[in-house]
Amino acid sequence: MATPTTPDRLTDLPPLQFDNRFRRELPADPMSVNHPRQVMNAAYSDTLPSPVPAPKTLSVSTEMMARLGLSDVDPKSDGFAALFTGNQLAPGSEPYAMNYGGHQFGQWAGQLGDGRAINLGEVLTPTGEHLALQLKGAGTTPYSRGADGRAVLRSSLREYVCSEAMHHLGVPTTRALSLVVTGEPVLRDVLYDGNAAHEPGSVVCRVSASFLRFGSFQLPASRQDHDTLRQLVNHTIKHHYPNCLADGRASEDADNAAIGQFFQAVCERTAELVVHWQRVGFVHGVLNTDNMSILGETIDYGPYGWLEDFDPDWTPNTTDAQFRRYRFGQQPAVVLWNLGQLANCLHTLTDEVEPLQAGIDHFRAQFEARWRAMMCNKLGLSAWQDSDAELTDDLQTLLAAVETDMTVFYRALAKLKREDDPDAAFNTLHPAWYRPETLTDDYRAQLVAWLAAYRARTDADPLSATERQQKMNTTNPLYVPRNYLAQLAIDAAEQGDTGPLERWIDALKSPYSEQPGRDDLAEKRPDWARTRVGCSMLSCSS
Ligand code: AMP
Ligand code: MG
Repeated sequence: MATPTTPDRLTDLPPLQFDNRFRRELPADPMSVNHPRQVMNAAYSDTLPSPVPAPKTLSVSTEMMARLGLSDVDPKSDGFAALFTGNQLAPGSEPYAMNYGGHQFGQWAGQLGDGRAINLGEVLTPTGEHLALQLKGAGTTPYSRGADGRAVLRSSLREYVCSEAMHHLGVPTTRALSLVVTGEPVLRDVLYDGNAAHEPGSVVCRVSASFLRFGSFQLPASRQDHDTLRQLVNHTIKHHYPNCLADGRASEDADNAAIGQFFQAVCERTAELVVHWQRVGFVHGVLNTDNMSILGETIDYGPYGWLEDFDPDWTPNTTDAQFRRYRFGQQPAVVLWNLGQLANCLHTLTDEVEPLQAGIDHFRAQFEARWRAMMCNKLGLSAWQDSDAELTDDLQTLLAAVETDMTVFYRALAKLKREDDPDAAFNTLHPAWYRPETLTDDYRAQLVAWLAAYRARTDADPLSATERQQKMNTTNPLYVPRNYLAQLAIDAAEQGDTGPLERWIDALKSPYSEQPGRDDLAEKRPDWARTRVGCSMLSCSS
């Protein structure tokens, strides 16, 4: 098999300063053969990317280029495309695949690991950040479990766009530096119905301070490998949760108090994360414990979706269609369940329940407080009052009762004026309804009553109308990466046209501001997209 080259002439390769502390500090797989197997007592396996025939950069995040100190590098150069598909290795890069397990759809699945993601290493950025660079789709690893280690353009583009969009929406997330096509066709059966076809292969370079997942800790715990688990916990606390160590005792073993605080901090970040998802209408689709970042970031964009009509029972993932474990309305409960699994595995180190129970209690309290604050912001209220529970519950019941686009609705709500009569209000809200003809008289009466209650509530609130509108329009996005827009960008990119992709990415950089000439990117899903694959439902095939 071909291996990546380390070039001796580096002129067209980006300058990157590597400091691979994950690899340096944590136990390595002693075997170097790249075939599927159980990897014991190790946090990672050294794994080289498998070269691809004709790498070509489709898009880069200019923000991430700058953050990594690559602003002067030409992303269309051969060197850039070679580096960010793994065809060439920069000096200092020591590629590895990470070992982890996970609960998938509620069942313990054992070892999973990076089956197609290969870390190039950690780079030190010009401002002193430590960021891991990870190529998704760069070839097989010991964790590939018989699969091909590759990714297709449609799934890579969806991950690339959404992770950048999430960042601009203010939602914690892994980032994406680049989207590069490989020139290698990849065989996929999108609907798992025996109709496999070749699709363009591609590689996304993901970026995060850490790609550790809940499942990274669960796997050694499940194997009673306390040594690896302890090293992972120490490493994570030292570098990512240093405040949990008393008096900055950075090099010591984390004691039970530190582990308890670490877990509590993970609970807090996860509560913050899931409230953001509910705010913007993001449905992850596969909230398995291997897809839960220990940093509280959104990670692993697969068959995710954006809520269009407000439906708490909706999931975009066809694989989950029957039980809807990962439906929109259940995300808070599911991440709490996942935190419970993380607590179980940390318990094998601490043998103490209380600090971990305190973390779970903290999640509940944080979630509640943050959810209330978020709903106040969505409605433009200065602070939560007890009676707001009824106001928000009633609103959600109304939104779910007829097909109402959540994103369009909240932006329209911010446009209502105090003096609007019901007809004027309905006119303003009209674009949010997918089937306005289905509004019954009873529904209209309930909505009029809700609008009156909302007006009474805002009348009593100290915020001025302008302040309220501003609060709402910085909480409720106008542009979100709607599934059908992703499909349009994919269709064009597969034909070699990245114009729609670039225009869309640019709009998503300012998701809260009205952008002249871009109304089409803020509209609700058109009717043709209602049932089209990729627009309303997605499989895990990627
Ligand atoms: P995901 O559903 O993307 O979170 O993936 C679950 C597991 O399957 C992870 O261990 C992935 O690395 C692995 N996986 C998914 N797709 C592939 C692929 N094409 N080749 C190898 N491993 C894969
Ligand atoms: Mg995953």
